[in-house]
Amino acid sequence: MTSIGFIGLGNMGGHMARNLLAADAGYQMRVFDVVESLMESVTSASTSTTMVTATQSIADAVAGVDVVISMLPAGKHVKEVYLGAGGVLDNAGVDTLLIDCSTIDPTTAREVSAAAKDKGLDMLDAPVSGGTAGAESGTLTFIVGADPQGLERARPYLEVMGANVFHAGSSGAGQVAKICNNMLLAVHMAGTAEALGLGVENGLDPATLSEIMKQSSGGNWSLNVYNPYPGVMQGAPASRAYQGGFLVDLMTKDLDLAMATAEGSRSSVPLGALAKNLYRIHQQHNDAGRLDFSSIQWLYSPDLKER
Ligand code: NAD
Repeated sequence: MTSIGFIGLGNMGGHMARNLLAADAGYQMRVFDVVESLMESVTSASTSTTMVTATQSIADAVAGVDVVISMLPAGKHVKEVYLGAGGVLDNAGVDTLLIDCSTIDPTTAREVSAAAKDKGLDMLDAPVSGGTAGAESGTLTFIVGADPQGLERARPYLEVMGANVFHAGSSGAGQVAKICNNMLLAVHMAGTAEALGLGVENGLDPATLSEIMKQSSGGNWSLNVYNPYPGVMQGAPASRAYQGGFLVDLMTKDLDLAMATAEGSRSSVPLGALAKNLYRIHQQHNDAGRLDFSSIQWLYSPDLKER
């Protein structure tokens, strides 16, 4: 029977852990989060063939397990959890597979993975795309940086929690690919909001304009599935007061990672830098950190804030 240590049961990790249990593959799971109540939401999902135990420390969560999966906020948490005294590397068994699904900077991902390799352990950076909805429905996209053998060992678990698994390259490459994707997402969402704002201010109906642009050369993912203008697309965060979805706080975090990565490679990312500043202004001046990132529409259509 495979045993899994799951660390970090927040908005994403909680769903991912529950999906592994729901797969009814006979996994035993040990979970740990610094917020105790989050562990209860997973332990209550035990089934007849799976057993979940809440633990009080990383050491306890990792002791004797075959696989460690983590879903943590940022690089400093990953470093602390894996490299800190009493952390994962101090407690993992000789053949434990390590999978970190957090979105963090590639440098930290490579550092932690190198330390794992020094101990003879396979470690993957496996950040995800698909948001909380994808985590809940088990349809995440995993973007993996790892040696091929590590990826093949991890695949059965990733395929339970997700619908797509991409191998971006060696250690850290998963994080680089994820960061590039989210920088592009920030740019096309801001561009879409800007075009919709311009159209509405010039008398157009946002739904009509959206339909025209979707079928024309302006079509893009933000328009197709995540329209930022309220009322245009049922089910999109814009139509529920920008609640849920992917937070502005997380988007600005990812854009900070993109800027740091560009600095490291001396790459020019003028559109990414502009998008980062737009989201930062929106976050601070509209107190929008906890809103979905498509609320960037407010920068272009400030009247929407009052509705
Ligand atoms: P979250 O803050 O809801 O969850 C993180 C969890 O880690 C929290 O429950 C926190 O208590 C726990 N934690 C922090 N330090 C810990 C420690 N030392 N030991 C044990 N637990 C600890 O965040 P989230 O939304 O679940 O996101 C997790 C990661 O996934 C982030 O890196 C984020 O950028 C990425 N991500 C999030 C989304 C999304 O839509 N929420 C989408 C894609 C990627």
